[in-house]
Amino acid sequence: MSRRQRSNEVCADCSVPDPHWASINRGVLICDECCSVHRSLGRHLSQVRHLKHTPWPPTLLQMVQTLYNNGANSIWEHSLLDPSSIMSGKRKANPQDKVHPNKTDFIRAKYQMLAFVHRLPCRDDDSVTAKDLSKQLHSSVRTGNLETCLRLLSLGAQANFFNPEKGNTPLHVAAKAGQILQAELLAVYGADPGTPDSNGKTPIDYARQGGHIELADRLVEIQHELTDRLSFYLCGRKPDHKNGQHYIIPQIADSSLDVSELAKAAKKKLQSLSNHLFEELAMDVYDEVDRRETDAVWLATQNHSTLVTETTVVPFLPVNPEYSSTRNQGRQKLARFNAHEFATLVIDILSDAKRRQQGNSVSASKENVELILKSITSQHSNESQDNDQPDYDSVASDEDADLESVSSKANRKKSMDSDLSDGSITVQEFLDVKNALVASEAKIQQLMKVNNNLSDELRIMQKKASKLEKQNSVPDSDYDNAVSYSDLDDTGFVIIKSNIFT
Ligand SMILES: [Zn+2]
Repeated sequence: MSRRQRSNEVCADCSVPDPHWASINRGVLICDECCSVHRSLGRHLSQVRHLKHTPWPPTLLQMVQTLYNNGANSIWEHSLLDPSSIMSGKRKANPQDKVHPNKTDFIRAKYQMLAFVHRLPCRDDDSVTAKDLSKQLHSSVRTGNLETCLRLLSLGAQANFFNPEKGNTPLHVAAKAGQILQAELLAVYGADPGTPDSNGKTPIDYARQGGHIELADRLVEIQHELTDRLSFYLCGRKPDHKNGQHYIIPQIADSSLDVSELAKAAKKKLQSLSNHLFEELAMDVYDEVDRRETDAVWLATQNHSTLVTETTVVPFLPVNPEYSSTRNQGRQKLARFNAHEFATLVIDILSDAKRRQQGNSVSASKENVELILKSITSQHSNESQDNDQPDYDSVASDEDADLESVSSKANRKKSMDSDLSDGSITVQEFLDVKNALVASEAKIQQLMKVNNNLSDELRIMQKKASKLEKQNSVPDSDYDNAVSYSDLDDTGFVIIKSNIFT
């Protein structure tokens, strides 16, 4: 992308130039302020990524850029383009608008209520409509027209729709046709690269068969997106799928001997979850990883004055109304885990995901999720919380800080002293370095800001000094002519000095 094109880009919501963030599922680029509102809505409404400071699979970025450049934003602002809506006073946000309430209200109306999306003329039977839309999607993904597909998805077409007549899903069609950007878009909307068609073949099979190697490799990556993201969070590396490595699980040293009873119990309960509940928990942990990583990018890219405003804080996962209140509470509790506790949970989930992939799972009851979260929290509960963490009383269950014995503290220290499978650095070291890096980047931003203020002050002082010098060099007799009060900086010091002279 050339500089010239970039400089033409504006925030899709408020038209501020040079937006730094993207909303992947909406196919738009957005500014920092609007991004803070998107984040507060939750990933079910907007999946944000920083354009420069977040790693991107190249074709995913290409998909978003293509959608944006081809006017995907008009899907979400359809009715605003109608001249009659301008007459009625409806308008999009301006760069000068305040984040609260103007930009926030507009963004909520646009993406949460879908207030400006084109409505279909007849919606007597929603299920028939959805089926028709899904069939249209099924045939549209054959072509490179991404906006049409996003439009259909925005109207309710299902990315995983199994077409009974054709015996396959839209992703099978896109894979056969080698439409890699369509595949990216479908995957963002939940299409599964491992779904078999009526012949038992997956989209990955068809991509490989058709010689679309890049697409086939990317589909394998998409299939492992969840566990890859968790591994990357823990150790900064992803498995080498091309060479048959599908999991990286940092190992905990001496796990067989030293892990506390509580941790062992937690692990057992995790293993006894039904596949469905395990997947839910893993998805929640994935969302929390995304929240923590996006927070880190946010800290590193914002200057100090933006940081302190309340509008930028996403202290825990926003509520997803499609989930039960129990699940939403569990999701919010994840924010209370400190880095060590959270790493332990992520490692356990990775290990169990691998075990389940290999096909030996037992099912059990729902309460176990709660018990697992509790056990892990109590195992590490007197790790001191970061000072800048907000108060989580609204989601707190019980305080179990007293429960931890001296011996289990020792165990924890050992259990976190873990090795990567290749034995080079420990998870602990990695997390420590990563946290330190984020903190120092934020600090540098602050120092630069302070430095700028000091330079400004210095310039003002120098200006004053040179003015005073001039005054002093003027002969006494000429003084009244040389200095007029309106020329002086409006400070007491200068005025007093002038009075002395006159
Ligand atoms: Zn904006």
